[in-house]
Amino acid sequence: MIETQPLNARRTVDAVIVGAGFAGLYAIYSLTRLGLKVQAFEAGQDVGGTWYWNRYPGARCDVESEEYSYSFSDELDREWRWSARYAEQPEIHAYLRHVADRFDLRRHIGFETRVVSQVWDETRGIWTVTTNDGAQIEARFCVMASGNLTVPNYPDIPGLDQFGGTIYHSARWPQDAADFTGKRVALFGTGSTGIQIAPKVAAQAAHLYVFQRTPNFSIPAGPLGKLEAATAVPAHERRRKARATPFGLSNAVLSQQSALDATEAEREIKFETVWKSGGSQPFLATFRDLLTDIQANHTAADFVRRKIGQMVKDPATVQMLSSQDYPIGTKRPCVDTDYFATFNRPNVSLVDLRKTPIERITPTGIRTEGAELQVDALIFATGFDAITGALRNIAIQGRDMSLTEKWQDGPSTYLGLMTAGFPNLFIITGPGSPGVKSNMVCSIEHNVDWIADCISWMNRNAVSHIEPTAEAEQDWGRQVSEVAHRTLFPLADTWYNGANIPGKPRVFMPYVGGLHNYIAACDEIAAADYQGFVKAYATGEQSPERSQFAGLT
Ligand code: FAD
Ligand code: NAP
Repeated sequence: MIETQPLNARRTVDAVIVGAGFAGLYAIYSLTRLGLKVQAFEAGQDVGGTWYWNRYPGARCDVESEEYSYSFSDELDREWRWSARYAEQPEIHAYLRHVADRFDLRRHIGFETRVVSQVWDETRGIWTVTTNDGAQIEARFCVMASGNLTVPNYPDIPGLDQFGGTIYHSARWPQDAADFTGKRVALFGTGSTGIQIAPKVAAQAAHLYVFQRTPNFSIPAGPLGKLEAATAVPAHERRRKARATPFGLSNAVLSQQSALDATEAEREIKFETVWKSGGSQPFLATFRDLLTDIQANHTAADFVRRKIGQMVKDPATVQMLSSQDYPIGTKRPCVDTDYFATFNRPNVSLVDLRKTPIERITPTGIRTEGAELQVDALIFATGFDAITGALRNIAIQGRDMSLTEKWQDGPSTYLGLMTAGFPNLFIITGPGSPGVKSNMVCSIEHNVDWIADCISWMNRNAVSHIEPTAEAEQDWGRQVSEVAHRTLFPLADTWYNGANIPGKPRVFMPYVGGLHNYIAACDEIAAADYQGFVKAYATGEQSPERSQFAGLT
C-alpha cells in the first residue's frame, strides 16, 4: 500500500526512481509488482519523458511503433493500435499516459519534482534523496531512469540574451503549438530533430534559414501508413526475437554480404530497394560491413549523396548538404520526410556555419560576416548533454566520492547498469550499455527486468547491497572501447563521445557489440550469482569477487 503522507514529509521507501518516461514507468510497474514500496520523481508535469518534452512540429519516432512500444503486457499490446508506421509525438505521449493510467502508476510519482541530490550512508546502507522542494526521502535502492537525452544543449552565441523575438529549444517546446505563419525563422541544428522540424516550419514560415554546422545523412522514412502484418505476432514474441538481434528490432534483416563483394549494379539495386522502403537501420544493414569497413561505408555514403543531388535543385545547396566529413551511420543516422526537398522551396535558405560563422545575435536578428538577417524566432535543435548529463546534474554522493568526481574523465560502469562505489544505485540504459544504439524501448525493458531480477535475488539471498568490483568495471570499460574501435563509430564527432559539448571528456560511451551479445553477457553474469559484483550480506559479511568475465566479441 502506498503511504498517504505528503511528499514533503521525510519517509522511507524501498526504491526511489528518478524519471517517468518509458524507463521510469516500466521500473515502477516492475518493482511494485515485486512488492517494493516505490517513490518516483519526475521534473515534468506529466509522464512521457522524451515524449512529454519534445513536442516540436514533426516530432515522431523513427523506429517503427510496433517495435518502439512495450512488450511486457500482451493485453496492452492488443488494446493499443498505432495509427502509423512511425507514430507522432502526441500519439506516443498518449500511449505512455495510457500505460500510466491502465497500470495505476501515477500514484507512485511526484510530478514537477526534481531530484537534486542522492547521498549514500554506508553505515545504514541507505540512500537519502533530496528534491528541489527540500523534501528528503530514504531508500535502499535508487533506480536512475533519468534518460540519455534530457538535458538540452543551448549554444553559447554572443547577444542571445538581447534577442527580442521568441526563442525555442526543441526539447523545451511550449505546451501550446507555436505558429510560424508569416514569421522569419532561424533554425539551428541539422540532427534528427532539425531534420524533422525544417519541412514543417518551412510550410508555415515567411522564410526559414537553416543554419547548418555539419551536414547530415538522412534516409527517407518510407511509407508512413501502418504496417498491417506486424500485430499478428504477440508483443512478447516480437520482443523475444528483437532481443536476439544487434539493435533490438524483431523485423531486422541482417545481410551477410560485404558491400565490396557486390558489383556496382547489385549494390545500386539493393540500396535503392531499402531506400524506397525507408528507415536508417534497414539502410545501414544493406551490407554487413557498412559500419566496420571504410570502403564499404563509402559505397553507402556515395549512394545517399547521389540521392541528395537528385532531390535538391540548386547545385551550391547540394554541395553544402553533401560535404559530410565522417562515415555514414557514425553520427546517429537520421530518418526524414521531405527534408532535402525542403531546400527547393523559395522561402528556405541554407547557411553553412563553417563558411559563414555567426558574429552575434542582435535584438532583431543574426549578424554573420558581412550580413544581418532579420528574424522573428530562433529555434535551437542543438541536441543534448547526452548520456551523462542528467546523472551529472544530480549531486550523487557515493561511498568515497561524488559521481561527477568519479566520472571526470568519462563515465565508467559495469554493463552500463551500476558503477563501483555507488551501492544499490542502478542506471537504466546507462553509459556502457547498448541503450542509445538500439531500439531503446527494447533495451529499457531488458535493463529493468535485469534490475528487478537482481533485487529479487538479493532479497532471496539476504544480500543487503551490491555494487561492481573495480576490476569488473575496468574489464567492461575495456570491452566497450575495444568493440567501438572495431567499428567506424570513433571516427565522428558525436554526442556518443561527448564531442557536442565543449569541455566534455571524449569517451565513446555506448556499447556497440550488439544488444544480443550484451544481453547474453548480462544473463551469464546473473546466472553466476552476479559475478563481478561485491555483495554485502545482511549479516555484515562481504563477498568481494574477482571478475571472471570471459569477454565478448
Ligand atoms: P526519458 O524519456 O528521457 O525520461 C527521463 C525523464 O527523467 C524525463 O522526463 C526527465 O524530466 C526526468 N528527469 C531527469 N532528471 C531528473 C531529475 N533530476 N529529477 C526528476 N526527474 C528527472 N529512441 C528510439 O529508440 N527510437 C526513436 O524513434 C526515438 N526517437 C526519439 C525522438 C526524440 C525527439 C528524442 C529526443 C529521443 C528519441 N529516442 C528514440 C530516444 C528516447 O529518448 C528513448 O527512446 C526513450 O524515450 C527514453 O526513455 P527514458 O525513460 O529512458 O528517458
Ligand atoms: P543532435 O543529433 O546532437 O544534433 C544537434 C545539431 O545541432 C547538430 O546538427 C549540431 O551540429 C548542431 N549544433 C550543436 N551545437 C551547435 C552550435 N553551437 N552551433 C550550431 N549548430 C550546433 O541533436 P538532436 O537532433 O536533437 O538529436 C539527438 C538525438 O535524439 C538523436 O541522435 C536521436 O537519438 C534522438 N532523436 C531521435 C529522433 C527520431 O528518431 N525520430 C528525432 C529527434 C531526436 P554538429 O553536427 O556540428 O554537432
